[in-house]
Amino acid sequence: MADKYDLIVIGSGCGGAASAALGAYHGYRTLLLEKNDFVGGRCATRDIRGFQMDHGHLFARCDKGPHGEVLRIVKSEDLIPPFVYTDDLEAIHLFHGKMFHRKEYHFDTFPMIKIFLVMRNLFDFRTLDFIEGARLIRRIRRLSDEDLRALDNVDVATYVSRHCNNAFINDVFGALGAVMFGALPEEASVGELIRSLGMGKSPYKMSTGYPVNGEGVSAIPKSFMRAAERHGARVRMKTPAKGILVEQGRVRGVEIEGETIYADRVISNAGVRETALKLVGEQHLEPSFVSYLNRLKYSYGGISLKYALDRPIIDFIRGNKVPSDFIRHMSDAMEGRVPEEISIMSVCTSNLDPSLAPEGKQILVAISPGPAVEPGKVRWKPWVESMKRQIAELVPGINDHTLFCSVSTPDVIAHESGRFFGDAVGVAQTIDQIGDKTPPAVSPILGLYNAGADVGCEGVATEMATQSAIDLFKNHLEPS
Ligand SMILES: Cc1cc2nc3c(=O)[nH]c(=O)nc-3n(C[C@H](O)[C@H](O)[C@H](O)COP(=O)(O)OP(=O)(O)OC[C@H]3O[C@@H](n4cnc5c(N)ncnc54)[C@H](O)[C@@H]3O)c2cc1C
Repeated sequence: MADKYDLIVIGSGCGGAASAALGAYHGYRTLLLEKNDFVGGRCATRDIRGFQMDHGHLFARCDKGPHGEVLRIVKSEDLIPPFVYTDDLEAIHLFHGKMFHRKEYHFDTFPMIKIFLVMRNLFDFRTLDFIEGARLIRRIRRLSDEDLRALDNVDVATYVSRHCNNAFINDVFGALGAVMFGALPEEASVGELIRSLGMGKSPYKMSTGYPVNGEGVSAIPKSFMRAAERHGARVRMKTPAKGILVEQGRVRGVEIEGETIYADRVISNAGVRETALKLVGEQHLEPSFVSYLNRLKYSYGGISLKYALDRPIIDFIRGNKVPSDFIRHMSDAMEGRVPEEISIMSVCTSNLDPSLAPEGKQILVAISPGPAVEPGKVRWKPWVESMKRQIAELVPGINDHTLFCSVSTPDVIAHESGRFFGDAVGVAQTIDQIGDKTPPAVSPILGLYNAGADVGCEGVATEMATQSAIDLFKNHLEPS
């Protein structure tokens, strides 16, 4: 008989790689199958002509959150990559058409009165706006975890307008929900948003950072893979799972090209819907479950431009562009209309870790939202052109110093990650898809589980993916 494992993990994204590390640590004879020749899925970093180019930018909480927690659980703290926290580093924001520098306007340490003066000068903030905003923030800071759970079913737009009647403040909260969850203010859960921002009373405190060991963002999934192998997991790259073998409602193994590998437990990181519909097959599932999966809403798709620059021209770490009427632009983008102005989040990753670029060169990674659609449905050229125009506003002269610009559209993301859509984050954190309504980690097929951002319950994007693996083991797979 062919090989038999205790556990097969499909996919090496954050959720899959973390699952393999936890599985192997807990004594399961573990095999990880990855279809690509690189690790990390949507959290990959690729070598493009000597430049290490990321998909994403930054991590929330870094080693203080689940990314560090997985490696602590599996007794591999030494594998936690070094991080720099970016909250205090130089940032520029082109916000509603006005440029400001983070060092000048360091809101965290500013007295309230100074914040007010800045807001008044920059955005014509009135005294009443300020009082309303300060009251709302004070109210939010007092919310306990329990209060936040009770707010899981309330959308951001309703909550903010309940407590303050101010278009600008509505816009700011709506924008945060849209950026973090890929969901518009009428859909995004305010409980989830406040929890993920770490603004309530819970110990979760939001911060952002970046690993600086020369591997870019892929340092996270790669560190999990190293831990998995340290504990005896076997890894097969360039090995797509073609199907999950199911007999009498139970998992029996995974089919790869020309071979079946047997195991009584499978954790799939391939996406909750993709796993069920592509790998298991509708014939093994209740029609009601299939129609539930088909109704899931997804986060926005990420259009990512990776600039290789011939010399250092950027002195910031983070450069953001937020257009006025952000929410309208964001909903245009998510619904597939090229917005007149696209919001841009960019990071000069080589200013964080110079070893990512060849000596004397620089990297800028910029991302904008677009629709999460099936590959081939959207012509991305106008989106990319619009983004390039706006990046040139943020970094004047960038085009004269660009050696090449590598573009990854949602089509590329869908292709690379094997997902139906090129969504950046995963299943969207809308009020009907979070908390106990998050898609299930435990599949209706016995022995089949999901790990990844689709089924994660806490935090932001990669954090959710990694947390999903921790929760899965804690709740279902830790040997007693
Ligand atoms: C452009 C962009 C920018 C982003 N920026 C950030 C950011 O700054 N911060 C942040 O926290 N998050 C960011 N995200 C989101 C974050 O990257 C994802 O939410 C997270 O990485 C998803 O991880 P996952 O575990 O769900 O798996 P995925 O990353 O989706 O990985 C799934 C893996 O499974 C493999 N696979 C699929 N099917 C098969 C199969 N049949 N057989 C074998 N292997 C298979 C895939 O190849 C892939 O490696 C960004 C995403 C994008 C696209």
